[in-house]
Amino acid sequence: MSENLETTELDRESKKKSDQSRLKARLRDLEFFTEVIPDGVVIINNLLIVEASNESAQSLLGFPEDSIGSSLEDLIEVPRLSNYVRKTAQQEPLEFTSPIQKDSTLEARLFNVDKDTKVIVVRDITTLNRLLTMRQSFVANVSHELRTPLTVVKGYLETMVDESAPDELRLSLISKLSAPVSRMESLVQDLLLLTQLESNPVPPEMDEINMNDVIRNACNEVQGLLAESDKISIVNDCDKPIKGIATELNSLCTNLISNAVRYSPDGADIEISWASLSDSKARLSVKDTGIGIAKEHIDRITERFYRVDMKDSRARGGTGLGLAIVKHVLRRHNSELEVKSRVNEGSLFYCDFEL
Ligand code: ADP
Repeated sequence: MSENLETTELDRESKKKSDQSRLKARLRDLEFFTEVIPDGVVIINNLLIVEASNESAQSLLGFPEDSIGSSLEDLIEVPRLSNYVRKTAQQEPLEFTSPIQKDSTLEARLFNVDKDTKVIVVRDITTLNRLLTMRQSFVANVSHELRTPLTVVKGYLETMVDESAPDELRLSLISKLSAPVSRMESLVQDLLLLTQLESNPVPPEMDEINMNDVIRNACNEVQGLLAESDKISIVNDCDKPIKGIATELNSLCTNLISNAVRYSPDGADIEISWASLSDSKARLSVKDTGIGIAKEHIDRITERFYRVDMKDSRARGGTGLGLAIVKHVLRRHNSELEVKSRVNEGSLFYCDFEL
């Protein structure tokens, strides 16, 4: 009987030991997990005393390593955060400016674990906020761009159905409808192309493209924009093909060449060149002697809807998306756009490709 009792005691002891080592291993795992996650995790008690925090919390909130035992309020001076964590009711996440980096925005979420313990999870939402703002301003820009031609079409249509308006005027408006409708069509086409460039993955196998053919096609496409006195010359100094996507390279050339035409006064002198730089590299360049671009605008002209002169660009039939398309096409072909320009002297746009 006493032997039996001793065995049970021993069993209990060994079970306790194995439970303890399992618990320790679990704690180590937990510690490891909280260290690897990018979100900051802070555990506090009811008096806002820090009981634990991970490395991300230290770097996001500027906590010292030995923050355990200190009051949250002493560690960070963000009264809104202190008020937020004091409340016990379920709350929306709190957005606040980072206490250590004034241009960063953090978001805190509070979880009441039990009546004595709370967990604060903090993450950096600066990029997320920036993307949200970019999306909002993009939608606002598109709506604004569409509103102008739509208002024109609406005005014409109102006059056309107005029986009191002279017949001659009503008839003359039919032909005027095509300009704003074409404008909306170009805008929608450019938007669709831009979306495709952003969302479609680059095909694993690119086609062999002869850039001289692409340049010739693009020149044919811009014929309608040319004044009689405009001159386009093509220098062809490379016969090797490149790996690429024909439709995208066609958009690239059409956009660069049509810009050269549109931003030059009548009598434009445009030079397009496709030339070898070495055995493995060739350069596409489009040079004009047009209005040029002031230095302070050059870094921004590939942004969507950025124009040096909004009215002027619209009058020249621009959508404000051409160079954004060019930038994306080049990125998908491992290249980038370079621009050299002088006001009233002209511009040079060029990009290099692997052969
Ligand atoms: P847009 O449709 O307005 O031409 P882009 O994205 O093609 O839009 O170009 C952005 C802006 O860059 C233009 O509005 C214009 O101000 C400037 N730009 C582009 N190409 C030229 C050029 N060849 N000469 C002068 N300015 C140019």
